[in-house]
Amino acid sequence: MEESVSLLAALHSVAFNSETPDQLNWGEKKSGKFLVKATFKLLGPQNAITDHWPWKLIWKIKLPPKISCFSWTALHGVCLTQDNLTRRKFQMATRCYMCMKEAETQNHLFLQCQIAADLWSMFLAHFDLTWVMPQNIKDVVISWSCWKVDSTIKRIWKMIPATIFWSIWNERNRRCFDGISTTYQSLKANCLMFLYSWVYLSPLDSPDSFLNFVSSLTLN
Ligand SMILES: [Zn+2]
Repeated sequence: MEESVSLLAALHSVAFNSETPDQLNWGEKKSGKFLVKATFKLLGPQNAITDHWPWKLIWKIKLPPKISCFSWTALHGVCLTQDNLTRRKFQMATRCYMCMKEAETQNHLFLQCQIAADLWSMFLAHFDLTWVMPQNIKDVVISWSCWKVDSTIKRIWKMIPATIFWSIWNERNRRCFDGISTTYQSLKANCLMFLYSWVYLSPLDSPDSFLNFVSSLTLN
């Protein structure tokens, strides 16, 4: 009731001009124009939509769209790993195809499995770094992006988590659906080759040979 009275009081002071054509105005912008971007910002804090979600770490990195989409699913925890399939009522005994020891969860497959840990270590060794890795994918990607690295390596640096995730997912699917296992050395080489091909998009035209590219992965 009180609100209705205040509304009527507010409307009372409005002078209508019958010559001005009616139009829709959105009150959140001076221009009166509705913008999806502005609405998203407006709704974000109220509904935890933004939640410091690291969308730039996926969509602003120059990777093939298929790889960006896959990273997006990994960060949202919705890759079709066995734990997610069992949540969808698939009946199965979950076991990681990479190590055949632990249950297959996303965090295990991409971070904690020995094969995943070795791929992360390979890059850390290239850059001569030690790192206490966070326990979930989102924190890993955010933490990785927080390293202060030189601008010359920054673009490649940002591509590395997605490269590792994709390499593991590829290998996991080969083992799951084709029954083929790549040797660990080949898996490492494939991972570096993915990165090389995405950095230069067309490796044949790249200014660097693959070996030069690999040896350039340093922080100097
Ligand atoms: Zn494993």
